[in-house]
Amino acid sequence: MRKLYFFDTTLRDGEQSLGITLNVKEKMEIANQIVKLGADVLEAGFPASSPGDFESVKVISREVKGITICGLTRCVEKDIELCAEALKDAENPRIHTGMAVSPIHMEKKLRLRPEEVIERSVAAVKLAKRYVSEVEYYAEDAFRSDRSFLVRLFEKVINAGATVINIPDTVGYATPWEFGELVTYVKTQVKNIDRVKVSVHCHNDLGMATANSLAGITAGADQVEGTINGIGERAGNTALEEIIMAIFTQKERYGIDLKVDTREIAATSRLVSLITGVPVPSHKAIVGANAFMHASGIHQDGVLKETGTYEIIDPEIIGLPRNQIVLSARSGRHALKHRMQELGYHLNDKELDRIYQDFLILADKKQEVYDEDLHALMGVGMSARGNIHIKNISVATTGTDSATAAVTLEFQGEEKTDAAIGNGPVDAVFKAIDRITGNRAKLVDYSLKSISKGTEAQGNATVKIEAGGGHYIGRGISTDIIYASAKAYVDAVFKTGEKIVSEQKL
Ligand SMILES: [Zn+2]
Repeated sequence: MRKLYFFDTTLRDGEQSLGITLNVKEKMEIANQIVKLGADVLEAGFPASSPGDFESVKVISREVKGITICGLTRCVEKDIELCAEALKDAENPRIHTGMAVSPIHMEKKLRLRPEEVIERSVAAVKLAKRYVSEVEYYAEDAFRSDRSFLVRLFEKVINAGATVINIPDTVGYATPWEFGELVTYVKTQVKNIDRVKVSVHCHNDLGMATANSLAGITAGADQVEGTINGIGERAGNTALEEIIMAIFTQKERYGIDLKVDTREIAATSRLVSLITGVPVPSHKAIVGANAFMHASGIHQDGVLKETGTYEIIDPEIIGLPRNQIVLSARSGRHALKHRMQELGYHLNDKELDRIYQDFLILADKKQEVYDEDLHALMGVGMSARGNIHIKNISVATTGTDSATAAVTLEFQGEEKTDAAIGNGPVDAVFKAIDRITGNRAKLVDYSLKSISKGTEAQGNATVKIEAGGGHYIGRGISTDIIYASAKAYVDAVFKTGEKIVSEQKL
């Protein structure tokens, strides 16, 4: 049995594709969950890309232990120096540097000759090596590169001190057999390949990222890169949860000793979706809402007789309780504690007291309390909540197309009230909030989804606003959908203010 290293790039390749700016607290919450899942490497960001990214990598390096922290750079001196500085406090730092290596990228994008690419790559690896012992080299668009050039380049960067060689299919162009062949080729042709780990990094443009990564692993790759829920550029990256479960269900076939805690998969997926505001499609492999649902009569009959007939994964393995339990106001503290435990929350007496009070208030409002409601009560993905508090909202609608809203906020330590007219109640509330806070950010997206079942279900509102070229996501949950929307909007507005403060500090 061999070890496979899991490299999570949700916070770098994932985040960079979203067009949104996660703040440090949100990134920390995801980073800590990735540690719980048991990944080996966490790519925390691209420090030279923005002061915010630098700050996030720095804080994660200082606070998150028990995992290698990695930062991305181009083969540019300043990138590498900034990255090394951001990684300074990491327990085990890694610099991930590299360049594009395909003819089209070298000629059209970089305007460099192949020999110049080799020279710059070698210099970058040598410089990175002065700061950290682990240096990973990525050959961007490796799949479309000239094979003999790739071998020559890899031999040189390994001699320069690289410890991991990353073979990306940046544009998601490969098929599994071709990608497996490429990994085999590199492993057999690069003379000094035994000195390093080989990594695979695939994109999903043709829906083959997971298959290509598994082909690479079968061909002997030591490390696999991907993101949670497969979020990433265009059609996304390899979904790490798919790789984990593909190997888990056929461990012997792969001969891999899986050290990941599969029971954290559902929680990790939920958290990443909440914080990034990117929903998981219901039919998504492993973590989609319908992934374990049997709809056809023949299938239901089979599963009732023997689960193995149509189920290759026990949902409990990924951290989903098999039985559906619905709590109500009559459920006692013990029942709540027990269900929380099944959902992976281990509460001490004090925490239980607090949550139980919130639970009773909620159960009063909506009779039936589902697992999704309990996750919301636990505040999953809500750590970034700001210090603008909603004191009161009243809305009047005429039943046609306009509405009036009066909003009272506690803002900058003062209670302030204002009113506005909008196209509908939500629009009117947002405009009133703008008047109080002086917000000028533009609303880009707004969505409202129920987080459990029934007409009394809690609404989960997501708001995306644009300020100073950045996008900010805000979320709010409540049984009252206007209130949920207001909370989401206030959350997003708070984040735009916070960003300005953190950039001034840097
Ligand atoms: Zn990528």
